[in-house]
Amino acid sequence: MKIHKLIVKNKNTNYPILIGKGALNLLAKQVKILSPDVKKVAIIFDKNVPNFFKRKIKKLLKNYKLFAKEYLPNENLKTLNKANELIEELIKNRFNRNDLVLAVGGGIVGDFAGFVASIFKRGINFVNVPTTLLAQVDSSIGGKTGVNSKTGKNLIGSFYQPKLVISEISFLQSLPKREFICGFGEVLKYALIRDKNFFKFIKKYSEIVLNGQDLKVLTNVVVRSSKNKIYFVISDEKESGKRMILNFGHTFAHGIEAANKFSKKINHGEAVLIGMLLATKLSFLKRLCSKNTIIEIEKIYKANRLPSNLLRYFKKTELNNIVKFMVNDKKNNDNKINLILLKEIGKTTNPGKIKMSVDQVNNFIKKIS
Ligand code: NAD
Repeated sequence: MKIHKLIVKNKNTNYPILIGKGALNLLAKQVKILSPDVKKVAIIFDKNVPNFFKRKIKKLLKNYKLFAKEYLPNENLKTLNKANELIEELIKNRFNRNDLVLAVGGGIVGDFAGFVASIFKRGINFVNVPTTLLAQVDSSIGGKTGVNSKTGKNLIGSFYQPKLVISEISFLQSLPKREFICGFGEVLKYALIRDKNFFKFIKKYSEIVLNGQDLKVLTNVVVRSSKNKIYFVISDEKESGKRMILNFGHTFAHGIEAANKFSKKINHGEAVLIGMLLATKLSFLKRLCSKNTIIEIEKIYKANRLPSNLLRYFKKTELNNIVKFMVNDKKNNDNKINLILLKEIGKTTNPGKIKMSVDQVNNFIKKIS
């Protein structure tokens, strides 16, 4: 199967993203080319990555001195304490800046390992091998790394670009259905905010995508999603303008997750799916998009029984809590809630254009639920 190569061009660095079934086989060769001075590799594995891949990666890197560590990913891993523990181990094992930290896992492991790489001796080489759909289409691209603070998610972090990203599509075959839906929320987001043709493709193949076994269709999805994410991150590396469009549905999602105390009852992707539908319905109420836009999007939700109803997760009396956390979102720089809304499939409002008060958003949520 063809291996796709995309390049992320930043002000100071460029790095390739290799995507496809078999892309992982290029790991050692690419490391040699991109970071020729590496002697030691610290592999940070997500425990749930199948053992077959762990063995394979160690074999591929047999010419390097390997230090491997496995973590069960949950948000408690993304802490300064855990980062510090890993840094101390790297120091003990005499890693230096020319060596390499390699993340093999979902977004949690990628964010955590990337953050450690960014601060270890002011930055050690970092390679990311994302193994979930969400990590392949979203978190591995753009250089955001980070850990959580006691007060909120991802509040401590850095922008740090990897030397290389390898999105091996075969990883997705072992991904649980719920994790697939999580990544699918982001995939659909790219189509809605920027890519009408991609939306048509998703509409046609949504069931096959969510089934998670057709590697050709999945490769197409990861390539097209990655291109869209790259478009936003290269035009706005430090998230001051255009990149905020990626926030479509996410301000609602953040409120939904936080009001649920980030419990397993609703995961990030499910919250994003509901958030995008809310944002679209609000767009219609504000006469920004047509009714038909909602109908087209809802077809995908219905065909795949995707989460769409807040009342599945909240009592009516609890809906007030959502908006409280929306205003706390770190992307809101005043007391108003900043929203990205939809004009049509493939086109959004500009960042900073739609600001609503807490009461306005609260009334909308109650009215629509
Ligand atoms: P995750 O890292 O929790 O992984 C989801 C689950 O899938 C975990 O249980 C994991 O062990 C398992 N898993 C991973 N690969 C697997 C495989 N191949 N087969 C079977 N199971 C596998 O979740 P995620 O959705 O990948 O990432 C979520 C994290 O990403 C959050 O912490 C979020 O804040 C972060 N994120 C970061 C960015 C960014 O720009 N840095 C963007 C979006 C999200």
